[in-house]
Amino acid sequence: MFKILDGKKIAEQLRCELTEKIFEFKKIKGKKIVLAVILVGQNHASQIYVRNKIKACEEVGITSLVHRLPEQVSQQELENLIKTLADDKSINGILVQLPLPAHLSQSALKLIPDSKDVDGFSENNVGKLCLNLPTTVACTPYGVMKMLEYEHIEIKGKNAVVVGRSNIVGKPMAMLLLNADATVTVCHSKTKNLKEQCLKADILVAAIGQAKFITADMVKDGATVIDVGMNRDENGKVCGDVDFENVKDKCAYITPVPGGVGPMTITMLMYNTYMAALRSEN
Ligand code: NAP
Repeated sequence: MFKILDGKKIAEQLRCELTEKIFEFKKIKGKKIVLAVILVGQNHASQIYVRNKIKACEEVGITSLVHRLPEQVSQQELENLIKTLADDKSINGILVQLPLPAHLSQSALKLIPDSKDVDGFSENNVGKLCLNLPTTVACTPYGVMKMLEYEHIEIKGKNAVVVGRSNIVGKPMAMLLLNADATVTVCHSKTKNLKEQCLKADILVAAIGQAKFITADMVKDGATVIDVGMNRDENGKVCGDVDFENVKDKCAYITPVPGGVGPMTITMLMYNTYMAALRSEN
């Protein structure tokens, strides 16, 4: 019988604990914790993500400052805003909601100081993750690790297969699993024999972006399956990269979509912002 890895429930508990810590911080330091969010243009999904992030901030006691820039904003204007926020000592974290409109370069993100990079995307923060040094870790893979930890799922010595090698999910996910002593395989669109690779997985992480791509014949009996994907199925319903209904009975643990990795991602953003505030005091 499979067990659901209930990201919503785990995230609620982590947010409760975090709310208390933030309350204590503000009481002792007499300061707010502030997250600056930059949203460029009218991308519908980005608007929803930002709204959810603001809501999560309110819930845990973080002050969010949203800077909405018009679609046509220039690279220079975007960079000027980031520089201003970078220099502002009252701001603990800076987040630029991606994707940016096509005319803007993501190189602007390099202006976010490592100490305020609450997304964990900066070259230094990624480098430290690779060196297994303390750092700010990208929220989605960090959330996955927290779920595994919460359910006491053993990682050491296990075969972990990560399908997807993006800079924000697949690569940091693989590195975290490796740092936790798993034997890690990273698969991508050029991987040969994907099914055979997946069948070796004690822990299978799908971060592909294709609805129900991972089917039951790709999953080993008793595997832990983590579905990062966020897609729409043929009926327009939100679904993951895993064919949940057919895969679940083969699993020891499986995350649902929605209600799995998603809520953990935002929670880790709140956690990273709190940690940035703590570090700024030392
Ligand atoms: P991405 O940048 O598009 O990367 C997708 C990865 O999947 C790439 O590495 C790609 O390989 C690989 N891939 C594509 N087709 C494949 C195939 N047929 N076989 C094997 N590998 C294949 O996407 P992402 O940003 O990592 O996001 C992945 C999914 O997670 C999306 O559905 C996204 O919406 C979701 N997501 C969810 C959260 C959350 O909080 N729940 C957060 C972030 C992302 P190549 O590198 O060879 O192209």
